[in-house]
Amino acid sequence: MEYGAELTNVAVDKLPVNITKQPETKVSDVKHPADWQWDAEDAEKELEETVPVAVKANYTGKDKENYEIQQITITVTRSACEHPATKTEGKIASTCTQNGYTGDIYCEQCGRKLKDGIETAKQPHELKKTEKKDATAVAAGNIEYYHCEVCGRYFSDSEGRNEITKDSTVIPATGEKPTEPTTEPTTEPTTEPSTKPAVKPAKKGTKLVDSKGTTYSVTVKTTKLTGNSVGTNAFKEIYYKAVIKVPKSKLKYYTKLLKKRGVSSKAKIKK
Ligand SMILES: [Zn+2]
Ligand SMILES: [Zn+2]
Repeated sequence: MEYGAELTNVAVDKLPVNITKQPETKVSDVKHPADWQWDAEDAEKELEETVPVAVKANYTGKDKENYEIQQITITVTRSACEHPATKTEGKIASTCTQNGYTGDIYCEQCGRKLKDGIETAKQPHELKKTEKKDATAVAAGNIEYYHCEVCGRYFSDSEGRNEITKDSTVIPATGEKPTEPTTEPTTEPTTEPSTKPAVKPAKKGTKLVDSKGTTYSVTVKTTKLTGNSVGTNAFKEIYYKAVIKVPKSKLKYYTKLLKKRGVSSKAKIKK
């Protein structure tokens, strides 16, 4: 035990010669033994780590009058901080657009920076793939591309290396008429003939035609047919054994006219 002063007849068991606890930074923060007090002026002295400070201590015991020396001077030395607890400050999480930082490490007790942080690498983009879509005459399509939902950028590759613009992903509409499906001609004829009626329903004055286009019978209701109103070949397609009904009043005239206009001589023209 060392003391800062030569003591004679002093009522002291022990006094600290070195202060080992942090974060006491003033003499008044340092605990003194019972019946002793730091001199008021010295109590305000700042304590720096490892720098010895001379401090006067006064004996205040009830029996102090019995002692010749009531004040001693001791040395108080604040020990170096052992940094019992640390905290990290300035940490930055990395993203696909910026590097991160692990943060600097500080002592929670003395506040010193103990260690610098280090930069961390960027994160990969969080890419969502969009499949290629062909453009049509009226609708735009798109190329295959990748979009990062974090930074909003577009890329042509799954690694996010080749950045492209959003506009460049668009395939403009062609503006052309869509081409006919190639399957149509082969499928239609196989079903249609079987469902068509063998004979189309007759309308007034129209031909009765079978599936081959042959006319079987015709009813002529008008009385106004003349050589000028009936075309030369108007009855050419008519079946040679067709039955042609005509108005009674015109039977004779029409028989002559129709045969001139292509009706077979074997056709039956009747009223
Ligand atoms: Zn510390
Ligand atoms: Zn990104």
